[in-house]
Amino acid sequence: MPSQLNLILIGPPGAGKGTQAERLTEDFRLPFISTGEMLRANVKEGTELGKQAKQHMESGGLVPDELIVAMAAERLDQSDTEDGFILDGFPRTTGQAEALEEQLEREGRRVTAALLIDVPDTAIVKRIAGRRVCVKAGHNYHVDFDPPKHADVCDQDGSRLIQRDDDRPEVVQKRLAVYHEQTAPLVQFYEDRGLLRRVDGTRTPAEVHNHIRALIATLKLEDSI
Ligand code: ADP
Ligand code: ADP
Repeated sequence: MPSQLNLILIGPPGAGKGTQAERLTEDFRLPFISTGEMLRANVKEGTELGKQAKQHMESGGLVPDELIVAMAAERLDQSDTEDGFILDGFPRTTGQAEALEEQLEREGRRVTAALLIDVPDTAIVKRIAGRRVCVKAGHNYHVDFDPPKHADVCDQDGSRLIQRDDDRPEVVQKRLAVYHEQTAPLVQFYEDRGLLRRVDGTRTPAEVHNHIRALIATLKLEDSI
């Protein structure tokens, strides 16, 4: 069996994780699993999970580990992850990272690499202020840095572009604080396991993409030696 490519994207909100994951999923034909997208779908559909998650999301806090871990575990057990996966926004706490590690270990799988997309807080605020997402599938745009061909219309599926509720400036500050407090410790967690790879996320989306592809090519080469 060819080895799996199990990638995790880490970075502050607005670092470009979704933007890169969309590109990588096309490059490698792997499922793109965004816990943020899954939660937003649950909120939209009014499921029990959605009801429990909504308040946390609106305030910029994290959804409790026990809810998220169960949701992610179920998704990772679907058969389309057989050759690998691209995880965006999970894990986000050390507890989630440990749960993921245990699940993969039980199943004879492991994380190939955790890619840290590094962007300073000052750049994040600009990125999030201009972020627009499509109502249908959450495809990402930026009014200045990555505009759609036609204003407010998704290039990929023609649906309407909107600003996310939690992208309002006051919520963004809270999300950044939560990132530094609860998610940043994952950098050390994956560093300790030799899995961390850093990417300068301040470059253009195409440059960041090329850097990640080069990193993955190196990982594959190391794996085949
Ligand atoms: P961004 O990448 O802009 O930070 P996401 O779309 O990944 O945003 O997440 C949106 C919100 O969904 C988060 O602010 C949080 O409330 C919730 N969320 C997503 N993933 C997780 C997770 N792994 N653990 C806890 N909460 C999460
Ligand atoms: P995340 O998933 O990490 O929250 P996104 O991929 O949604 O981040 O990107 C946040 C915003 O910044 C989006 O509007 C996106 O179009 C824009 N963006 C993404 N990558 C870059 C980049 N390298 N340079 C400038 N803007 C970017």
